[in-house]
Amino acid sequence: MDCIFCKIAAGEIPAKKIFEDNEMLVFHDIEPKAPVHFLVIPKRHISSMMECTAEDSELLGRLLFRAQETAWELGCGDNGARFVINCKSDGGQTVEHLHIHALGGRKLEWPPG
Ligand code: AMP
Ligand code: ZN
Repeated sequence: MDCIFCKIAAGEIPAKKIFEDNEMLVFHDIEPKAPVHFLVIPKRHISSMMECTAEDSELLGRLLFRAQETAWELGCGDNGARFVINCKSDGGQTVEHLHIHALGGRKLEWPPG
């Protein structure tokens, strides 16, 4: 499958990895939109959160909690951060492999455009 995040998960494309275990990978976004901007992905290909099933709910929880832990580790715990999951076309998803964005290190505006 021609999926850039599957290739990163397989080690075929380099990434600035922050954390990895058997089911997930955390790495810095290549075009950071904030001083801290990293992505949390499952290693298994899931095209978007809209395609998750009830069986994926515990995995989703672990991905989200890892995003929170990593945000603390990168210095965003006290001031906070934003965790975003863009889904499909209306959600602005450009890479069709489920990923959680974590953005921090500056004050973010709301709502998004
Ligand atoms: P989204 O628009 O929610 O699908 O977000 C995709 C994100 O992936 C964007 O923030 C991109 O900057 C990021 N991205 C794309 N290619 C890479 C890559 N090779 N390494 C790290 N981040 C990437
Ligand atoms: Zn993939």
